[in-house]
Amino acid sequence: MDFNDYIRDIQDFPQQGIVFKDITPLLQDKETLKKASEALFLLVGEHRIDKVVGMESRGFFFGPMLATKLNAGFVPVRKSGKLPAAKISQSYNLEYGTDILEIHEDSIQKGENVLIHDDVLATGGTAKAVCQLIERLGGNIIACNFLIELDFLSGRNNLNGYEVQSLLHY
Ligand code: AMP
Repeated sequence: MDFNDYIRDIQDFPQQGIVFKDITPLLQDKETLKKASEALFLLVGEHRIDKVVGMESRGFFFGPMLATKLNAGFVPVRKSGKLPAAKISQSYNLEYGTDILEIHEDSIQKGENVLIHDDVLATGGTAKAVCQLIERLGGNIIACNFLIELDFLSGRNNLNGYEVQSLLHY
């Protein structure tokens, strides 16, 4: 079983020039889903994790599964206007323009150990903004964990100083 066989390239989605890594075939296959969540868990190693933070929306697939295995809680980071309670916001740069991510201000206690998870690390702009939110709440970032890293975009350079763990590289 090769994880790569369950990830398909969709040309020009969501816009011209982007090759979208679609992980839904991997999610649909019960054995591959189980093996991928186990492999992501093994990437974390011996660290003690209090909270897994997953970003909207594809960080929500494996984030809670990882949290369960790590005996940690799960915290969603969402796009602007989606979280109902008191929150803090962080703007970040997209290829064209800016966007805003938010986190509930009571979701992480000072000094808690945090693992960040998302499906794809591309330019690293999203993950960097999530790191900023967590650090503003006093969280201690242990590592950034991804199913897929697009090496040619050098996103890990945006995550200077943090451990970056990726299951698959393209
Ligand atoms: P970035 O901020 O550039 O690292 O982009 C990361 C976010 O965009 C993640 O939440 C990914 O889910 C999504 N993303 C970026 N590029 C791709 C791609 N080629 N295929 C699938 N998702 C992507």
